[in-house]
Amino acid sequence: MKIDVLTIFPGMITSYMTQGMMARAIQKGLVDLSVTDIRDFATDKARTVDDYPYGGGPGMVMKIAPVFSAMQSLQSDGIKRHVILTTPQGRVFDQSRAQELATQSKPLTLICGRYEGIDERTLELVNEEISIGDYVLTGGELPALVIIDSVVRLIPGVLGDSRSGMEDSFSSGYLDYPHYTRPEEFQGRCVPPVLLSGNHKEINRWRTKQAIRKTLKLKPYLINTETLTKEEQIILKEIKEDIENELS
Ligand code: SAM
Repeated sequence: MKIDVLTIFPGMITSYMTQGMMARAIQKGLVDLSVTDIRDFATDKARTVDDYPYGGGPGMVMKIAPVFSAMQSLQSDGIKRHVILTTPQGRVFDQSRAQELATQSKPLTLICGRYEGIDERTLELVNEEISIGDYVLTGGELPALVIIDSVVRLIPGVLGDSRSGMEDSFSSGYLDYPHYTRPEEFQGRCVPPVLLSGNHKEINRWRTKQAIRKTLKLKPYLINTETLTKEEQIILKEIKEDIENELS
């Protein structure tokens, strides 16, 4: 997947993308990342990319011209891109949008805002505005990295075992089940015996039950009772009975 990032802080993007799973995805040729410094497209000696807001008010606004020129330079290869503007005003990002972006064919371009945001006229370059949550950060670099990371890990071949992505929270419709690793006992805290049993049918059932129970407790709105399998319906009934018994 080809990914371009437009930013005034290229180092923020490259320092994250040159480590861990993202670096491996790039080394394996699964991701082709290029980072454009918007300042390279400023026309003055000071490489200015911001200016005072028309109409007055606090803060500065990112100028349209350097962003336009940076995009024009990218698009000189004639390839159509899916352009995302990071902004708290966009649709809130989630796992299903990450999955859609991971499977669409166009290269992704992410524009990172700074200051009070980018001149509104930049929106005509943009296909989609994405927020990573209803709060305000100082810049779009963290949101861009959040989007890139969540999309890249879904590209086949990026994760060591492709089942990891499928079993993650949200992908299965539930939150993830609890994970344990060695030692079997840590200062009196034991790993659930079923995980040591070697009985994979029982392990899978236990994991499904734990995932549904966690989801019911923490994010009940994720459970769609109309799409539950017969087995999941039985498990859900069992969980409700367990909870009633624990309360009585
Ligand atoms: N004045 C803007 C507002 O209130 O909507 C906030 C601008 S913010 C300080 C600067 C930049 O950070 C934004 O242009 C955007 O690129 C990025 N940003 C901040 N919070 C974000 C969020 N929750 N999701 C996505 N991008 C965000």
